[in-house]
Amino acid sequence: MSLSFHDLIEDKLLLRAIADAGYTAPTPVQSAAIPAALKGEDLCVCAQTGSGKTAAFLLPALARIAARRSEQAGKGARVLVLTPTRELAQQVEENAKLYGKYFKWLRTVSLVGGTSYGFQTRMLAKPIDLIIATPGRLMDHMQQGRIDFARLETLILDEADRMLDMGFIDDIKKITAAMPSERQTLLFSATLDGAVGVLAKGITRDAQRIDIERSENHGKIDESVYYCDDIRHKHRLLDYLLRDTAIDQAVIFTSTKVMTEELADALYEKGYAAQCLHGDMPQNWRNRTLRDLHNGRIKILVATDVAARGIDAERISHVFNFDLPKQPEDYVHRIGRTGRAGRHGIAITFAEVRDYVKVHKIENYIKRKLAEVEIEGMEPTRKRAPAKKRAPQGKKGFGGKPFDKKPFAGKSGKPRRAHDGAPKGAPRKPSGKRGG
Ligand code: AMP
Repeated sequence: MSLSFHDLIEDKLLLRAIADAGYTAPTPVQSAAIPAALKGEDLCVCAQTGSGKTAAFLLPALARIAARRSEQAGKGARVLVLTPTRELAQQVEENAKLYGKYFKWLRTVSLVGGTSYGFQTRMLAKPIDLIIATPGRLMDHMQQGRIDFARLETLILDEADRMLDMGFIDDIKKITAAMPSERQTLLFSATLDGAVGVLAKGITRDAQRIDIERSENHGKIDESVYYCDDIRHKHRLLDYLLRDTAIDQAVIFTSTKVMTEELADALYEKGYAAQCLHGDMPQNWRNRTLRDLHNGRIKILVATDVAARGIDAERISHVFNFDLPKQPEDYVHRIGRTGRAGRHGIAITFAEVRDYVKVHKIENYIKRKLAEVEIEGMEPTRKRAPAKKRAPQGKKGFGGKPFDKKPFAGKSGKPRRAHDGAPKGAPRKPSGKRGG
């Protein structure tokens, strides 16, 4: 039987805010995490962006601080959320204000770099309930003696894997060392393997582990891969696909900051309302860009991985991976920018033919196969390297047959599936039929 929010949360004001947000039922991560977090347990949660994880940690945290006053004297925060990026911190703060809108007493502040210290310092001078911070800026305030952890009850690490990727491990260790050990710790991450698992062990106590299937995308996002010869070929495909009238808003991911600027400029020249977003832009530009994305002034955002974390715009209908992500986890974060709030999304990945192994790694990670699509007249002409002899036949993905230039018939100019939904490990085999 599926749960309702009334089964999970007692606080009437929170329930009212949840209903106002239009949430009718908890998502799987919320059903699993909220009851345990309300009991005060430590949690290590493996969940993706788009799963509803923000509410999964904010709702119980707000319910707990609303239920009783702090027994500790002082003005320090009772809940601290650490996030890897400014955008994600701002997103979490917006959500906290949304869920806490009927708590007139609630004071929150987001401590992020790129914005002035003045406002943050003034907010910290009075009692505060919830701090959302990036590790660097929090450390700055700690060094200035502005952070009092005496009242801290709950520490939340959001996207812990990304924080480690960004080199925040030492900051996190220093921050947690300065906190009361009698606290609740909730760690959310796309993966709990490797370094993040070690960190989780070190900072939680008897944590309950919750795994939300990473392959789950609720069928809301259609994913496909287009193989290309080179960057010029990618540009031709992108031009073709952007003329698709069904695009409401799109995010295009590139691997470098320079590339975001070049591609956004090129698209702007072609008449698209395109803008770039990357970490070297001043914070006020970044904020303005995100606002313009939200209010629809920007149709195409060209972004790097880090800058795009935390983008939550419901009208993003398409995500393009112009360059492949460096890590398979990034693929999941990228495509999570579309298919938000129950809508249908389309995620299109461009991969150079020689990069098919990287696509294969992504497929292994997400535990599903990406549909290969070609556009007639724009097929790749380069061939994939033949399979290595030692690979057992028919076992490892794109095995024996080299890529055939024109494996399938198709209507002129229409995208067509070149290889769709074959069971994992099935050898690639050109067939005369056109896929769906
Ligand atoms: P997150 O994974 O926290 O980034 O959330 C992804 C999106 O889902 C956000 O737009 C949330 O507002 C939305 N959301 C979170 N929980 C629910 C829910 N129970 N029902 C509908 N939408 C939700």
